[in-house]
Amino acid sequence: MSEIDQMLAANGEWRAEFPGGLPVAPARKVAVVACMDSRMPLFGLLGLAVGDAHVIRNAGGVVTDDTLRSLTISQHLLGTRSVVLVHHTDCGMQKTTDTDLADLVERTTGHRPPWVAQAFTDVDEDVRESMRRIRATPYLLSAEVRGTVYDVTTGELREVKDLAAPHHSQARGGPLQRGRELGS
Ligand code: ZN
Repeated sequence: MSEIDQMLAANGEWRAEFPGGLPVAPARKVAVVACMDSRMPLFGLLGLAVGDAHVIRNAGGVVTDDTLRSLTISQHLLGTRSVVLVHHTDCGMQKTTDTDLADLVERTTGHRPPWVAQAFTDVDEDVRESMRRIRATPYLLSAEVRGTVYDVTTGELREVKDLAAPHHSQARGGPLQRGRELGS
């Protein structure tokens, strides 16, 4: 049985505990931007339940144009306002460089990918850069943007402080949004 056949079969067990239909808008108004790493079960490690949050994942959890596309839809159409970044120790994106990866792909297939991988060496700095990119995107409505690093050997989630950033209460958010928050 292939891995995917096993997944399709496992869905029977899932349906036995399926919690039922929920609204499309995330209940806790949170979007998580995280690495695709297989050792990070985000709902468990962040205490989230089905229906609580959007989860946007890619290699490295980096903020790409497509991450911003998803965040825009998450915020403007589905009402999220907090963004939490989850990067982690021992990330595959620390084990290559943008050039090395492009060279590898080109050697293997004869084609050089049209995008930049966005590999990194310092995970904390990469979290800060991701926070900066989100805060600098003028069409987002984020009320709170925070970054973390998950330790895949201990399970600990550590917040990365961005000293240059304003306190989240002063972060971007239009007057309507701030008014709604004060009133809630
Ligand atoms: Zn990773």
